Amino acid sequence: MRKPFIAANWKMHKSVAESVAFVNAIKNKLPDPDKIEVGIAPQAFSLYSMKQAAGDSGLKIIAQNAAAEYSGPYTGEISLRGLKDLGASYAMLGHIERRRLFGENNEAVNKKVKAALQMDITPIICTDETMVQKEVNDEIHYVFQQLMSVLHGVSLDQIKRVVISYEPSWAVGVGQHANAALAEEGCRMIRRTIADNYTYEIADKIRILYGGSVNPDNIKEIMAKPDIDGVLIGRASLDVDNFLKMVNYAE
Ligand code: PEP
Repeated sequence: MRKPFIAANWKMHKSVAESVAFVNAIKNKLPDPDKIEVGIAPQAFSLYSMKQAAGDSGLKIIAQNAAAEYSGPYTGEISLRGLKDLGASYAMLGHIERRRLFGENNEAVNKKVKAALQMDITPIICTDETMVQKEVNDEIHYVFQQLMSVLHGVSLDQIKRVVISYEPSWAVGVGQHANAALAEEGCRMIRRTIADNYTYEIADKIRILYGGSVNPDNIKEIMAKPDIDGVLIGRASLDVDNFLKMVNYAE
């Protein structure tokens, strides 16, 4: 049984004080952590304070990005070692905005994925597809290529420890979510790729999240789909009431 995972991506929003106030407002209203996992990816400077504020609530703290290198002359980068010290249990790697705005490619994401696994930080590997691929019916091939490139050299033992997200770029940040059937199709295609290239048992256990304009009105329908194990939520996660409605979607 795959535990549902509701993860918020706060992008470049909220100060430290706002992030801590948010955690204080939600931490006693989260679902049972044995049944549903909840995490937030704030800006890196808020990780430690949020972890402290979260206490034993079960709230997971997620990094939005990480450097592949352990340490060295990489001005402006944030190491996995440091993120671990701050309390991050997960790191989102290869988000569409990192690819689109900062030129991250599959090779760079692959190095980060392997480094995170070595550091015992669970990677949330972000995959995407664009409308162009969809229009020419190339989305299956495109996601397959992207996923296999970023997983290059990831062993059978390591793949069990990753989370994968499927975020069609035409649905991220635009208010236009993929309908639940399309979201399911994308997640199913990823699970099939894992089954074909690793094993069916692993594919059956791995968690796959959908991301792209999830909100309190559509989360229930999306979470009801069999191959969708969770969601990655941007804008709608910034508001306490909306956030609580979404993490408690099962009630
Ligand atoms: C995201 O940035 O990962 C995301 C899913 O954003 P939004 O929910 O705003 O589309």
